[in-house]
Amino acid sequence: MRIGEAAAAIGVPEHVLRHWDAEGVVVADRLSSGHRDYTEEHLQRLRVLRACQGIGMSLPQIRQVLHRHEAGREEMLREQLLRLRRQRADLERAEAFLAHVVGCEHDLLTRCPRCSAYG
Ligand SMILES: [Zn+2]
Repeated sequence: MRIGEAAAAIGVPEHVLRHWDAEGVVVADRLSSGHRDYTEEHLQRLRVLRACQGIGMSLPQIRQVLHRHEAGREEMLREQLLRLRRQRADLERAEAFLAHVVGCEHDLLTRCPRCSAYG
């Protein structure tokens, strides 16, 4: 499919697809006319790209996710896993705090051991 259709399918402007193409993240095929051609494989790569952006990964990192043979890939993936696990732990603490605060009857944070323990 042409770039306009791919952009609509993914929900980004065409210039964003051209940028990701130029950066080597998701590189479209080229028709003999020179126009970019996106296949279902490209679309799935674009969906993965968007999802990885959503969890805070950079374009160079996402390029490594999508290209199995890039140098440093495994180390980067392990770092990202550690980062996500730390974030999950932070989110779980925040969730437990807010769930407590909803029903906390202390008038000051410092009078509540559970409120005082957060932060
Ligand atoms: Zn409390």
